[in-house]
Amino acid sequence: MVPLGLLSITWAFCSFPLESVNAGLVALFVVTVFFSSYLRIQLPRTKIHLTVSDALIILTLLIYGGKTAVIMAAFESLVTTLNFRRQGINIKNRTIVLNVAVAAFSVYVTTLAVNLFSISASEVVHNGDKTQFVLLLTIMALSQFIVNSICAAVYIALKSEKTVWQVWNEYCLNALVMYVAGAMIAGVSVKALNSINMFLFAVAIGFSAVVYITYRRYVDDVKQTAAKAEQAERERAEQAENHIAELQHHITEQERISDALRESKEKFRHAAFHDALTDLPNRNQFTETLKFLLEESKKKPDFNFAVLFLDLNRFKTVNDSLGHSTGDQLITHVARRLAGSIVESDLVARFSGDEFAIVIKEVKDVNEMLNFAELIKHKVSTPFVIGGRKIFTSVSIGIAMGNSSYSEAEEILRDADIAMYQAKESGKDYVIFDKIMHTRAVTRMQLETDLRTAIERRELCVYYQPIIDLEKMRLAGFEALMRWNHPTRGLVPPGEFIPVCEDTGLIVPFTLWILDESCRQLAEWNREYPETPLMMSVNLSGKHFAQNDLVEQISDVLAETGINPVNLKLELTESAVMENADRIILMLRELKKLGVQLSIDDFGTGYSSLSYLHRFPIDTLKIDRSFVSEMETGSENGEIVRTIIALAKTLRMNVVAEGIESIHQIHQLQILNCEYGQGFLFSRPVPQREAEKLLSDQNRWQNIMPNQNSSSLTREREITHLRLAN
Ligand code: C2E
Ligand code: MG
Ligand code: MG
Repeated sequence: MVPLGLLSITWAFCSFPLESVNAGLVALFVVTVFFSSYLRIQLPRTKIHLTVSDALIILTLLIYGGKTAVIMAAFESLVTTLNFRRQGINIKNRTIVLNVAVAAFSVYVTTLAVNLFSISASEVVHNGDKTQFVLLLTIMALSQFIVNSICAAVYIALKSEKTVWQVWNEYCLNALVMYVAGAMIAGVSVKALNSINMFLFAVAIGFSAVVYITYRRYVDDVKQTAAKAEQAERERAEQAENHIAELQHHITEQERISDALRESKEKFRHAAFHDALTDLPNRNQFTETLKFLLEESKKKPDFNFAVLFLDLNRFKTVNDSLGHSTGDQLITHVARRLAGSIVESDLVARFSGDEFAIVIKEVKDVNEMLNFAELIKHKVSTPFVIGGRKIFTSVSIGIAMGNSSYSEAEEILRDADIAMYQAKESGKDYVIFDKIMHTRAVTRMQLETDLRTAIERRELCVYYQPIIDLEKMRLAGFEALMRWNHPTRGLVPPGEFIPVCEDTGLIVPFTLWILDESCRQLAEWNREYPETPLMMSVNLSGKHFAQNDLVEQISDVLAETGINPVNLKLELTESAVMENADRIILMLRELKKLGVQLSIDDFGTGYSSLSYLHRFPIDTLKIDRSFVSEMETGSENGEIVRTIIALAKTLRMNVVAEGIESIHQIHQLQILNCEYGQGFLFSRPVPQREAEKLLSDQNRWQNIMPNQNSSSLTREREITHLRLAN
């Protein structure tokens, strides 16, 4: 192609008509070579750019002929290509040469084609008819197009794997429009030049240029706006994408949180209905099940179920002696055995500490439950091996039969609980609930409620029972005995309310109250009757020893009432001192340091270890009235009394005999050298006013004895009787 191009250029230069050079040609040259490539319009939605250069080349062809047009085309191509390179497009030198050659050659071919049709361009332009003019333009456009497009197609095909035809069809065919348009513009321009003078043409061109520039600016503006819109759209899309990503993250996070919440809700729910140590259902779940069963029993009257309330016996001892960890393990083992004793439809729950409950569904009769309770008793009393050690325990079971007569779940549980307490109290393994138990429990609860306000309402009072010096037959002191003046029931004996006080802990304030009251009374009496130094005996419950500040409490009472401590005698039962003996000994020693006297009450009824007895700092043994009252008739009791007195002497303790109701008993006790006596024979426990009457007539008991002679006779007979009995 390059030689053909060079030949074309050489041909043009060699016979270039210099006479045709004028201002118009120079202007046309300048516009074509330096500006035409800038003046281009892109056809909408195509890659086709209409440049003015094609039109100008054809215009040059029409006005100045082929040679001028060849040189113009070569220069235009050279400058345009160099311009492209200047703008940064990578174009090699040989490509530039090729472009110039193609441009020159194509114009040469066009000149040939026009000559081939024997048409003189200037003739057609000035004189020819319109058909010839159109034909001329068509030949020019087509020949330009054919040479340029074929050269381009061959060039691209050589560089790609496509055929020339494919490339031409795909890329070059569309360029036809450029040449056709160029030819049309050139044609219109020539006609305009011919019709109007040069000046008007220049004005028209100038006007066209203004229109063009305005159009370009408009197009640029539109492009810029479109670019901005595109950019904004891109940013919006990016924002939307970011937003979606954020949302996605947020949703994932929400899902994770809701999963965690669900999990923790399930955990809480489990914890709310289960016991942490054994993982058995707890009281809440048990009550829910009972509610459901009650509903069932209302729908089906023959549907019966049973509730068993279980409490381990002496579990506290396990905790105290082997530690809480072993206690916990024992509870876990018991829980496992209980759970293994029921079928899947039944339920075992742990309520608290050592309390369990079982509900059995579809119960036929009471016997079935008794058999089941027997099985449970057997299972729990089989020893447990914990930490290599055998641990024994047992259980008390209360059974309540559930049926439609109950309206609340709590009522069945309450009844099973009452039955369990009944079992514990009576020492039985299991007890079936009956209505009487409930009445008893309600009475006891009422008693408890009333007792709690007894001190404030000043319902408590003290009765005093005289203690007599059996040798002188004179008043030695009193035992203070508590009475409860109930607003509706009248005087309630201590046997009825003291155990309740001990269970509820009320015994502590009650004892402090009677201590205070009786010591104050003693101080008053000792002031009024200074010639008779009196003792005051006050009963101290074993439960009170659980109070660490017991000694301090007694010391406070002594200080407040101002009595001589030696005149206060504290009475403790055998069981109270023997249980937890080592600790009690220490506390008794502390009490002794205060100067008070200590007495063991109801001696002989409990279990006393002799090895302990001598270690207790005790001053007095008080023989229980059961031995004293039977002294006359039964020989065994007489011997017991004698033995107790002998024991007391050995341990350097004095003796008080309780429950003296006959003169014979006094005689016998006098013979045995019993120092003091107390009993209905001398006086029943009496209120303060009557006790004062006894105080003012202290010799009255000397008169109850028959005269000395008959008395000594009887006395001897009694001694004989005792010896025979021995
Ligand atoms: P206790 O300390 O052995 O008191 C003696 C009980 O024997 C008194 O009964 C008294 O009335 C009764 N008694 C005295 N002589 C005779 C008699 O000749 N024949 C008969 N059949 N009974 C006689 P009470 O007052 O009913 O007291 C019963 C128990 O209640 C007391 O036995 C004592 O253990 C307890 N108690 C009374 N008051 C208190 C108190 O303030 N604190 C404590 N912790 N217990 C008290
Ligand atoms: Mg007593
Ligand atoms: Mg007693």
